[in-house]
Amino acid sequence: MLPQRKCLNEFRCDKCGRCYVWKKGLQAHKKYQCGVKKQFFCPVEGCRYRATFKSTVRRHIRGIHSAVASSIKY
Ligand SMILES: [Zn+2]
Ligand SMILES: [Zn+2]
Repeated sequence: MLPQRKCLNEFRCDKCGRCYVWKKGLQAHKKYQCGVKKQFFCPVEGCRYRATFKSTVRRHIRGIHSAVASSIKY
């Protein structure tokens, strides 16, 4: 669970409790983040990283597994 923070004049997601200063931010969160399954996972053995977007996993591989990144097709 996410730590519960108090929202002041911010916009709060009624599903997960995240706060957004801008209504647009909350709308984008609801559409792309909240409740969206993390369906892409890191192909490196032993790594349990998961992400919502394939591009995020790519960035993860380049950042965390930079030593083997060139040998991974993703
Ligand atoms: Zn949410
Ligand atoms: Zn990984």
